[in-house]
Amino acid sequence: MNKPTKWLIQAVTPLDRYVGDRVALLGDAAHGMPPHLGNGAGQAIEDALILGNAIAKSVQSGTADIPKILETYNAIRQPFGNFVARETKRAGLLYDFTDEAGFEGLREGDKVSLERLAELGTEINEKWAWTWTASALDDLKKVEAAFQ
Ligand SMILES: Cc1cc2nc3c(=O)[nH]c(=O)nc-3n(C[C@H](O)[C@H](O)[C@H](O)COP(=O)(O)OP(=O)(O)OC[C@H]3O[C@@H](n4cnc5c(N)ncnc54)[C@H](O)[C@@H]3O)c2cc1C
Repeated sequence: MNKPTKWLIQAVTPLDRYVGDRVALLGDAAHGMPPHLGNGAGQAIEDALILGNAIAKSVQSGTADIPKILETYNAIRQPFGNFVARETKRAGLLYDFTDEAGFEGLREGDKVSLERLAELGTEINEKWAWTWTASALDDLKKVEAAFQ
């Protein structure tokens, strides 16, 4: 590319909690992440699924218990949202042949062995594995259990 366009990739510094008092953060506000695993919007939708169901289950049980709703949402979504953000950052470092991915000192025009590229391919493939092994439906069961 002779004249590539450029823009900043902004990310949220990992948060210890997605809730406080009567406030809940969802989506990019909670875990804005680089685009390298194509998961920001997916995670935002999963946040909404879990928080929405926590509200519904609480109301169905007779009361809108806001502190419990928020704690349930936080306990389920904060670890996973931060995990996805961390994995996404790592994937970007791999895609870009950075020092952190073991390519110290690599410069444009340098040769990388086919074996190393094959290893990199395997590692990148593995980075995606959770997207088809993990399911938000399992997290929904945790919401149900919390309000039984
Ligand atoms: C180039 C690119 C490619 C991407 N590709 C993918 C992908 O393939 N798959 C994927 O899952 N994700 C992808 N994402 C990430 C995804 O777009 C975001 O994670 C997702 O949009 C976050 O949703 P959100 O609702 O949290 O935030 P946003 O979509 O940013 O929504 C926030 C909204 O709040 C509004 N707003 C802000 N301030 C105020 C205010 N004071 N008052 C009222 N409204 C306000 C904004 O205008 C905006 O409409 C990509 C992102 C980019 C930039």
